[in-house]
Amino acid sequence: MAKDKEMNPFEIVQAQFDSNAVKCGISESMREFLREAEREIRVRIPVEMDDGTTKTFTGFRVQHSTARGPAKGGLRFAENETLDMVRSLAMMMAWKCAVVNIPLGGGKGGVICNPRDLSDRETEKLCRGWVRKVYDFVGPEMDIPAPDVATNPQDMLWIMDEYDTIARSRKPGFVTGKAVGVGGSLGRTEATGYGVIYCVREALKRLNIDFRGATASIQGAGNNAQYCCEKFVEYGGKVIAMSCWDAVDKKAYTYSYEKGINPKDLFAPGTLDKFGTINPQKAKLFGWKQEHADAWLEKPVTVLIPAALGSAVHSENVHKIDFDNVKIYAEAANTPTTPEADKVIKEKNVYLIPDFLCNAGGVTVSYFEQVQNNMNFYWSREEVLERLEKIMTDAFHDVADLAEEENIYPRDAAYIIAVRRVAAAVEGRGWVKSKK
Ligand code: GLU
Repeated sequence: MAKDKEMNPFEIVQAQFDSNAVKCGISESMREFLREAEREIRVRIPVEMDDGTTKTFTGFRVQHSTARGPAKGGLRFAENETLDMVRSLAMMMAWKCAVVNIPLGGGKGGVICNPRDLSDRETEKLCRGWVRKVYDFVGPEMDIPAPDVATNPQDMLWIMDEYDTIARSRKPGFVTGKAVGVGGSLGRTEATGYGVIYCVREALKRLNIDFRGATASIQGAGNNAQYCCEKFVEYGGKVIAMSCWDAVDKKAYTYSYEKGINPKDLFAPGTLDKFGTINPQKAKLFGWKQEHADAWLEKPVTVLIPAALGSAVHSENVHKIDFDNVKIYAEAANTPTTPEADKVIKEKNVYLIPDFLCNAGGVTVSYFEQVQNNMNFYWSREEVLERLEKIMTDAFHDVADLAEEENIYPRDAAYIIAVRRVAAAVEGRGWVKSKK
């Protein structure tokens, strides 16, 4: 196991922030304020299981920043969840909302559990239990959850309903990523993946590469990866590999298909479950070749898209990247690259689209969802996606321009833009002075 894969995720993002805080020219007191969360909540959630026993789960909510608006960010279910993981992702949400310039802060929640082991009834109880425990500290004007790893629109409805039940009111803006028809926004499900590919499209333009003829390899097959694949193909590119969890062997494989994966096959009933786990029989039927888990990383493609979990690309596998062919590395997942792997990607001059810019489409449409909830008036899918496309395209070029002007790595450029915006809000509120 690569040592850097085991690194503390919060220390990784704090180190990235620290080095860019210096470049931003913010004061030491501002840096000290911004490198820790404003508030952290740890709760214990007892759930009566289907077999009659009671199991107590540990959950978290971390509000990293509320200077630019209410804390915003998903709720994750993961077996290896830790407070430091949630802290790191909450911090990234603050930079994410700032880099696309939406008026929200950053937060994240997590529950330690294996979502695949829970029945729907148990999942519902867990969602409702989490709300009851964090209720006093969250709300549509304070902190707004959303889907993340292993949570989905149905979970968000249970979360909304529990909040409404306690509040004795109807507050659909408390949570985003809800199902359409019950306060959800059209386009939210596709938003993260589409946002990734809007960025990829703009990066290809800057590199003078035609989308038709471009190829991609994607790690993951969950919501984000599925819509990355769909949009990439819609623009005329070919996705030749995706990696995912196998339902039978209970391990990850890469599934490759030289002719290009057809998104229709991916979305066909029975191909993937709600977690993006693949039915290997279906893969066989489509002619996809099963390869080892890391094979997606070795493909001679134009664009590599890690769209699964954190620290997926690390010191021991980064050298498997085909640096002669890969032109763009688009971080669709949150923190998919360890610092050591990041150094290699930087040295090799691959065009990086950093995570908190690349995957900001989800939270951007979450913001639209809240706006629609507040108006109680809903936009068409076209209207949502048009607005999303503009925000992502503008944010992408702001970062790309700064990176070019200052001759810096796009990750650093994105940090500089985001941290300056958050610092300006903190200073404007009179919390911390930005100079000295
Ligand atoms: N979980 C998503 C993210 O990491 C979306 C958050 C949201 O919509 O609030 O960006």
